[in-house]
Amino acid sequence: MTSATLPKELDGKVVTPADPRYRLLRSTYTTVARPALVVLPQTTTDVVAALRYARDSGLPIAVRSGGHGLSGRSSNDGGVVIDVSGLNEVRVLDRRTRLVRVGAGARWAEVARDLASAGLAISSGDHGNVGVGGLAIAGGVGWLVRDYGLTIDHVRAAEVVLADGRVVRTDAEHEPDLFWAVRGAGAGVGVVTAFEIEATELRDIAVAQLTLAADPDGSTLSRWAEHLAQAPRRLSTAAMLMSDGRRAVLSLTAVYAGPDTGRMRKAVAPLLEIGTLLDQRAHRVPYSGLVSTAHLHPNLGQQPANTTNGLLPTMTPDAARAITAAVTGPRPALLQLRSVGGAVNDVAADATAYSHRDSDVLVVGTVFPPGDRATLDRIWRPVGAHTRGAYANFESCPDAAAFRRFYPGPTGDRVLATWRHHDPDGIFRSALYPSELS
Ligand SMILES: Cc1cc2nc3c(=O)[nH]c(=O)nc-3n(C[C@H](O)[C@H](O)[C@H](O)COP(=O)(O)OP(=O)(O)OC[C@H]3O[C@@H](n4cnc5c(N)ncnc54)[C@H](O)[C@@H]3O)c2cc1C
Repeated sequence: MTSATLPKELDGKVVTPADPRYRLLRSTYTTVARPALVVLPQTTTDVVAALRYARDSGLPIAVRSGGHGLSGRSSNDGGVVIDVSGLNEVRVLDRRTRLVRVGAGARWAEVARDLASAGLAISSGDHGNVGVGGLAIAGGVGWLVRDYGLTIDHVRAAEVVLADGRVVRTDAEHEPDLFWAVRGAGAGVGVVTAFEIEATELRDIAVAQLTLAADPDGSTLSRWAEHLAQAPRRLSTAAMLMSDGRRAVLSLTAVYAGPDTGRMRKAVAPLLEIGTLLDQRAHRVPYSGLVSTAHLHPNLGQQPANTTNGLLPTMTPDAARAITAAVTGPRPALLQLRSVGGAVNDVAADATAYSHRDSDVLVVGTVFPPGDRATLDRIWRPVGAHTRGAYANFESCPDAAAFRRFYPGPTGDRVLATWRHHDPDGIFRSALYPSELS
């Protein structure tokens, strides 16, 4: 396979195809892969050793936290996967300032569970099996997004193993360029082993689930977006728009960042009238009930899919019509709508590598087999025409053009400069954007 010798400290931490654990570790959420070996570091020193071995062996390197990345690039064929799932500590460093140390390999369900007893939460995403690493290096559009902002907006420091094996703790004062890139474009800087994140005081949240038939002219989506643009920030919503065979149906989850179901009902009331109401429920749950340990699973039984996304500064009538039409055409697609805005847009566009601080709506389009990328592109084109910029974590096929949507203009130039400075040989970015961003 290679003439490089496995370092002593990795004894028992390397999984080859002959190992029974290999079938649980080879693949990602979307993609079946065949790496030469998967290394399971238990410490930052192990990560350094794994990286040195991978570099000496000349094999391609993939870095994995939870394996939920849509592009499948946290595994590879014939290379070394550095799987940091063993670095999964969740520890409150300072209850007064709510500072929490979170290992990159923890799952967000574990973070929610472990912080619940302290009455704390970190807004991450909607799924408990997503890894801390992949989400917290790119954005984090979670259930509390309008109130809390993105996950990266609360990262106060990160520990990174750089391409040359140096371990760096970066924050606003130390290696500020690296810290800027870690928050939005972290996959190209090195292996992030841990984050320090400021959590928020939160125990229970009030949740409403609404199902509505969406008007074909787009007016349901327009009314949804109009309400969210001026609703209390404590209200965030995520919706799935799909066809029931006859019409577009909007399945909407509205989360109120607090336990008060009365206030939640008041904030949600206008949404009951944006389309024909088919079903509604409301309940109060601990935050950890929404980002649940019931989601935890190994990456088996892949769900292949093609996904892309775009951000809308505002939902214009034309955009609302195009989105609604996308799910009712001859080829079925699933569109997801996330309210962003609120606290996300309080942050300056150049403060982190996620620069889209003027958008109110994130639209995500997915096509499942037998639909392929060409099918998705066809369905997405009329929707994409209304979008400006995109979120790196909801793209299954990142290429050089997508890179410029994630990191437009000077942001992209600064991301590339930072990546090249810390990884001159491109060992990390070649795994992310093969041969396109040298
Ligand atoms: C079912 C599902 C639901 C989702 N819901 C949401 C949501 O609500 N909100 C949201 O914002 N996103 C959501 N996502 C997208 C999610 O944020 C990304 O897929 C994220 O990259 C997954 O992180 P991971 O660690 O599990 O992935 P991985 O596959 O392990 O990694 C993804 C990428 O990040 C890189 N990477 C991973 N760990 C590290 C590290 N420690 N250091 C450096 N680079 C690293 C990998 O190399 C890879 O390129 C969802 C995805 C899925 C599949």
